[in-house]
Amino acid sequence: MKRLVLILLALGASGNAIAGWHSAAQDIFGTEVSVQLWHDDNRAGVDAISAVFDEMHRIDALMSTWRDDTEMAAVNAGAAATPVEVSVELFELIRRALELGTLTRGAFDITYASAGFLFDYRERVRPGQAALDDALAVVDYRLVRLDREACTVFFPRAGMRIDLGGIAKGHAVERGVKILRKLGVAHALVSAGGDARVLGDRRGRPWAVGIRNPRGERDAVYATLPLVDEAISTSGDYERYFEEDGKRYHHIINPRTGDSPSDVRSVSVIGPDGVRTDGLSTGVFVLGVADGLELIESLAGYEAVIIDAELQLHVSSGFDSLKQ
Ligand code: ADP
Ligand code: MG
Repeated sequence: MKRLVLILLALGASGNAIAGWHSAAQDIFGTEVSVQLWHDDNRAGVDAISAVFDEMHRIDALMSTWRDDTEMAAVNAGAAATPVEVSVELFELIRRALELGTLTRGAFDITYASAGFLFDYRERVRPGQAALDDALAVVDYRLVRLDREACTVFFPRAGMRIDLGGIAKGHAVERGVKILRKLGVAHALVSAGGDARVLGDRRGRPWAVGIRNPRGERDAVYATLPLVDEAISTSGDYERYFEEDGKRYHHIINPRTGDSPSDVRSVSVIGPDGVRTDGLSTGVFVLGVADGLELIESLAGYEAVIIDAELQLHVSSGFDSLKQ
């Protein structure tokens, strides 16, 4: 568990010993997915958690770009030659991702992958400038052609690719909470790495979601947010990266330059929709403090907490109480 440490500690002390509370975690999407919920029927509580994990595995099998047997992989393999038909779910998520491209004026751009795939953070691989420039020439979300009637995706340029890594976990968390709601659960927290959604409260008090200290130990909490019925997504420069000559190459890429932004270290976005908070946290990371906060201020219901390179905190206007 990464950023929601406070909650895990609290549950560690009480855990399943208190009747009604259930929690479990699994590795999915290359990160830890965890579910905590209240159900007064033990069996039903355990089954509800399983249903969420099943849903997450289903989404991973649809959207992962790490596997070559997914719908997403088929799009990247074929869409530059001919329109590729996809499921309504994938189509809709790609459509929403392109919308986020417009909203963030290209800071969030799923075609970043045309250049992004040249990096391998585990193997410390990065492209040379010429290869990067070639790839950047086809990074532009506005080029992607969606045909709603045929439910197809088409890339009009050779070498174009997309990746939903900046939005898929938000989607998964939303779907997980929807399932829980249908099963009659009223108090839950579903998280997938840096993306989480809380359903209801924690029976009489808000859920406490921690934001990790970007340069602390894995369990060092920088700030805690009390949340009820909200989604929260955090993007950090500490998830996947390598360093070379004092420069950090991490998994968030500025679609215009191919660089990893270095003026902020962590961005959390809170709001009513987890797909949006996920895309926005990545987008605001690229935009930086001033432009990022300006975007968040323009969106009703959304707030942001940004930790910059000097570990200074910047918050949107909904956080007046944090500002002192
Ligand atoms: P995490 O995966 O840790 O939750 P984010 O939500 O910030 O973090 O997503 C980072 C992922 O988003 C990257 O691993 C990559 O798949 C994708 N990505 C990186 N840069 C961009 C970008 N500029 N626009 C859209 N997606 C991006
Ligand atoms: Mg994101």
